[in-house]
Amino acid sequence: MMDRTAPSLRAIPSVDRVLRELGPTDVPRPAVVAVVRRELAALREAAPDNAIQPVDAIARVRAALDALRAARIRRVINGTGILVHTNLGRSPLGETAVDALRQVASDYNNLEYDLTGGERGGRAAYLEHNLAVLCGATGADDPPRAAAAVNNCAAALVLILRHFAGSADRNEVVISRGELVQIGGGFRVPDILESSGAALREVGTTNKTSIEDYERAIGPRTALVLKVHRSNFFMGGFVESPPTEAIAELARVKGVPFVEDLGSGAVVRTESAPAVEHEPTPAEVLAKGVDLVCFSGDKLLGGPQAGVIAGRRDLVAALKKEPLFRALRCDKLVLAALQATVDQHLIEQATGSDLAQSGVPVVAMMHMGDDELRRRAEALVAHLSDLPLAASVGTGEAQVGGGTLPRSAIRSVTLDLLPHGIPLLDFAARLRAGEPPVVGYVSGGRLKLDLRTVFPRQDGELLAAVRAAVAGLLQ
Ligand SMILES: *Cc1c(COP(=O)(O)O)cnc(C)c1O
Repeated sequence: MMDRTAPSLRAIPSVDRVLRELGPTDVPRPAVVAVVRRELAALREAAPDNAIQPVDAIARVRAALDALRAARIRRVINGTGILVHTNLGRSPLGETAVDALRQVASDYNNLEYDLTGGERGGRAAYLEHNLAVLCGATGADDPPRAAAAVNNCAAALVLILRHFAGSADRNEVVISRGELVQIGGGFRVPDILESSGAALREVGTTNKTSIEDYERAIGPRTALVLKVHRSNFFMGGFVESPPTEAIAELARVKGVPFVEDLGSGAVVRTESAPAVEHEPTPAEVLAKGVDLVCFSGDKLLGGPQAGVIAGRRDLVAALKKEPLFRALRCDKLVLAALQATVDQHLIEQATGSDLAQSGVPVVAMMHMGDDELRRRAEALVAHLSDLPLAASVGTGEAQVGGGTLPRSAIRSVTLDLLPHGIPLLDFAARLRAGEPPVVGYVSGGRLKLDLRTVFPRQDGELLAAVRAAVAGLLQ
């Protein structure tokens, strides 16, 4: 055995040799060494008595290292036209949020310190106050309103379920069969309910649920009536569900809390963007008599990942007293960015400023006019005339995305590219491999980059990325 395997094993290069061949990389050396060791071990295992060419071994290590490097989180230019792109980090933050992050991140801060009294203070009091106002609290509400934030909307829902449906004799959550939905990857309403110890009490049918269905289902074991906004799909045709006000009134009479999971958390008039439907806002839903709403911070609110809970002050206070709240609370960076985003919305609401100029990027992108996009596309095309590709101004349909507003396609403008001498998919891969990576989509025989989701300040980088991707092609 020794005699047969020894020579072939020697053909697998040493760790040191591979490291020398790889040359310098921007991945820290201990991480590179671990990749090299892992790949060489796998080679020995796969080919115990086959000689392996050192070049093949090095190519394999290089590919593994490239895969590791590509997985590092970094900025990307989004040419997909999907505003809240779950795979691309959902909402980009606005400038004021980034400034707040930078300051709070690198200096000490008053996270839990009362600067007036010079002693320990509450956490997130400013954010919670302003968040409640953004969710419609006036300061003179009856019942009084409040708000709080946790790590994401799924966490908000788990906290709510744990609090209201956590006891064995009162754990039923009444929900319409039409709302037992899956949102994105890994968020299934029935699974969240089950894992929180709640028992599902389904009412109605997939397409029709009446107020009588709710009424029949509510009993002594009912912990909560839950409504889940169907954010990522719509139902048409023979469809019916009772108005929120009617469910709220029923829940009030029966003495059962009524919670709505809104998901997207739009606080601006989405319908003022061309061809976008109205998305219910937290303030509007609470005004209809819902006791609590929850929604994401990083969808249409345009802030960091967070889950906002707003509504009756007594209920919000009780949720904050749950031991689980401690495990779900936001860190200082999230609080700083969320606080700045909420303030931005409040300032813009008060001044009634143009939504296309909003300091919240998702809001601005949604409302941006075609003319501006077309002007940018034309300038980009003019700058690409010397390259071995056909560049033209095209049209596209941008989407809000993030599991929101599934019916709303926003007419948009694209930069359409057809490179000479390279398959489109290879060209797309080259753009993704660039620095920064550019992600577009292929349609109608072109690689399309939707300019609605490319920030104007990125146009220069976009040109450089296209240049780099065609560099070396036939001239
Ligand atoms: C997106 C969404 C969620 C999940 O929100 P996360 O912040 O990602 O946890 C929950 N419910 C609805 C209705 C949603 O649209």
